[in-house]
Amino acid sequence: MKQKIILDDIVSIRGKRTDGYVNFGQKPDGSQFRIPVIIIEGEKEGPTLLVDACTHGDEYEGAEAIVEIAKKLETEKFVGTFVGVPALNFEAFSCISRVSITDGYNLNRIFPGNNESYITHRLAYTYMEKVVKFVDCVITFHGGGDVLHLEPIIGYLPGDDEISKKTLELAKAFNQKFIWSMQNLPFNGVTSIEYKRILGIPTVLPEVGSHCGRLYDREGNVKICSDGIVNVMIALKMLDGEAPMPVEKMNVELHYLHARNGGIQKLLKQKGEIVEEGEILGEIYDVFGNKIEELEAPYRGVVIGFWSVPVIRPGDWWYLYAKILD
Ligand SMILES: [Zn+2]
Repeated sequence: MKQKIILDDIVSIRGKRTDGYVNFGQKPDGSQFRIPVIIIEGEKEGPTLLVDACTHGDEYEGAEAIVEIAKKLETEKFVGTFVGVPALNFEAFSCISRVSITDGYNLNRIFPGNNESYITHRLAYTYMEKVVKFVDCVITFHGGGDVLHLEPIIGYLPGDDEISKKTLELAKAFNQKFIWSMQNLPFNGVTSIEYKRILGIPTVLPEVGSHCGRLYDREGNVKICSDGIVNVMIALKMLDGEAPMPVEKMNVELHYLHARNGGIQKLLKQKGEIVEEGEILGEIYDVFGNKIEELEAPYRGVVIGFWSVPVIRPGDWWYLYAKILD
C-alpha cells in the first residue's frame, strides 16, 4: 500500500473524513499559500483516487462536483481512498482568475514545477510531492471558464503502455460522447503528461462546463462531473453498482485555432456541429463593421468549443476544433 498523504493543517476530522491543507509558502501577512484537501477512507483497502479542479481558477464545475461527492461518500460504503482537491490553485479560484495572481503563471503549463523559484512552480512541485505521489489515478477537471465554451470532452494520453491503456479505459468509463486523444498538445508542463512521465500515474482530464452554461445549466454540468466521478469509481471497483449504459463515443484530436486579428467575432458554426473542410467557422469585424478575417475549417471535423466573448484579441484561441479519429 502506498504511503499516506500528510496534511500540514487539519481543519476537521469527521468519521472517515479528514479536511485540511497542504501549505507551500508564507505570505507577507503571515497566512499560507495552501491547497485544500479532503481525504475520505473507504471501508476496505483499495485504490486511491485523486479528483481535483481549478488548476485554472475560473473552471468551477468540477469543484462543485467534488464538494458534492465528498459529502455523499462520508456516509456511503466504498473501497479505497477518495482524495478531493476542489481548488488546486486556491488563490486563482478565490479571485475568479484562470492564472495565478501573485506571479501570473498558468499552473497547467509549468508542471512538474520546482521548489526554488516562483510560487506557482512551488505549488506544482508541492502538489506532486505531497499529494499526487500517493495516489493511484487522477481525474483533473477543466472547463471553458469565463471566456470559452466547451462541449464535455474527456482527455487521455494515448499509447500502447499499461498506463495509457488504463487512462483510456477510465476516460471511456467517465461516459461522455467526446473522448479526446491528447497526443498533440501544443504546450508543455501539463499535469497529465508529467504525472505519467514522472510518477507513472494515469490521469483523466475532463473539460466540462463554462460561463456560457452557468445561467441555465450549471447544475447539469456539475452533474456531468459528479456522474463521471461515480462512473470512474465503479470502473475502479471502488463503488458497487452497475456501470451505466455506455453513450456512443467519438474519438477526437483537438486543435486550437487562433485568431490572427482582434475585433468583434461571429461564430458561424455551433457546438457539436460537423464541418466540412474549407467551410467558414467564424468571422471577425472591426468596429466600423468591416470584415477583416475569416477562419476556414482546415479539415472535416467537429466543433468542440469556441471563444464565447464577443470581442477577441489577436492570438486568442478562437475555435477548439477536432479531427474525428474514429
Ligand atoms: Zn483549464
